[in-house]
Amino acid sequence: MPIDILYQLNGKIIVGLGSLKYLKDIVNKLNPQKIGIITDSNVASIYRDRLIQIIKSIGIDAYIILRSGERVKNISTATRIWKILIKKEFTRESLVIGFGGGVIGDLTGFVASTYMRGIHYINIPTTLLAQADSAIGGKTGIDMDGKNLIGTFYIPNAIIIDPIFIETLSTKQLANGVSEIIKHGVIASNSLLKMLENHHEKILGKDLSLIEKIIKSSIKIKLNIISRDFRERGIRRILNLGHTIGHAIEKATEYRIPHGEAVSVGLAYASKISEVILGFDETDRIMGILELFGLPTKLPVKPYRLIDLMKLDKKNWRGKITLVLMRKIEEPVIKEFTEGEIRKVIGGING
Ligand code: ADP
Ligand code: ZN
Repeated sequence: MPIDILYQLNGKIIVGLGSLKYLKDIVNKLNPQKIGIITDSNVASIYRDRLIQIIKSIGIDAYIILRSGERVKNISTATRIWKILIKKEFTRESLVIGFGGGVIGDLTGFVASTYMRGIHYINIPTTLLAQADSAIGGKTGIDMDGKNLIGTFYIPNAIIIDPIFIETLSTKQLANGVSEIIKHGVIASNSLLKMLENHHEKILGKDLSLIEKIIKSSIKIKLNIISRDFRERGIRRILNLGHTIGHAIEKATEYRIPHGEAVSVGLAYASKISEVILGFDETDRIMGILELFGLPTKLPVKPYRLIDLMKLDKKNWRGKITLVLMRKIEEPVIKEFTEGEIRKVIGGING
């Protein structure tokens, strides 16, 4: 399959097997004054040779390896990185490269967007979740009290998405990313859903050309929606399908459940609620697809706890709970509910 070059505003997205080889050209064109790479210890050890190769080919001034996991995504890590950049005399014409999963992308983007009011930034996402979803759309952030409560919108100069990195993910990590791809399919592409249904074995077996296909399709869906509403004031909110419930599950379980799995349960419940409210009739199909990938569909906490947490979602407005629901596949609807209404619908659903 050819390598695709897509755009979000003036940021390039280079997607396809082998796209990593473009890094050197992109860096040369930017001609940065200094270069830093940020990754996590896990990725640094799995991709040691590849990183050495990159470092040799572009020459770097700072190599920052963080602990892996969501817990590093905080202000003290950001401070540490800012201080390293200052010490190494990074200027506004310098570049930072994020190399890792969603955590590294969010954090590197945040640092890049705030250091000297914004420096050059290249993102190289290495998990399926980051490649098919979180690296796209320019959101950066760190956690403070709540997840992603501090952050910016910042478009990288380039995002390089090479499905080769999927090879080293566990089945659980792979499924975690598939959950967001299913979400994109439900929102905007029945043919993507069919691909997931018909080829789940090959996808779980890490057939890279199929995985490349679903990543490309997922990215194009997200780009299309974002191009109409970058700052999430309107239509972009449909990308939160499964997320109001998903975020509440993450909070209730203190983030022990991975994001994609929480979204999976959120998708199952959004379908069930859509069935009651809008006559949506493909709940069984969606549950079936989630299950094909070993994703969970049952609430891991009591419904009343979930509703208390849903009230706190940062995307709510004037005390109402906003949910993205489905009239049909490819026909999402944004609905607002009072707490009482939500209690009634969720109470009536059998887990
Ligand atoms: P996300 O799942 O949101 O992308 P993380 O950045 O926390 O979130 O990545 C999840 C885990 O996967 C981390 O422990 C990270 O080190 C690891 N990881 C990232 N990329 C790869 C990869 N290509 N192969 C194996 N493990 C990876
Ligand atoms: Zn998500």
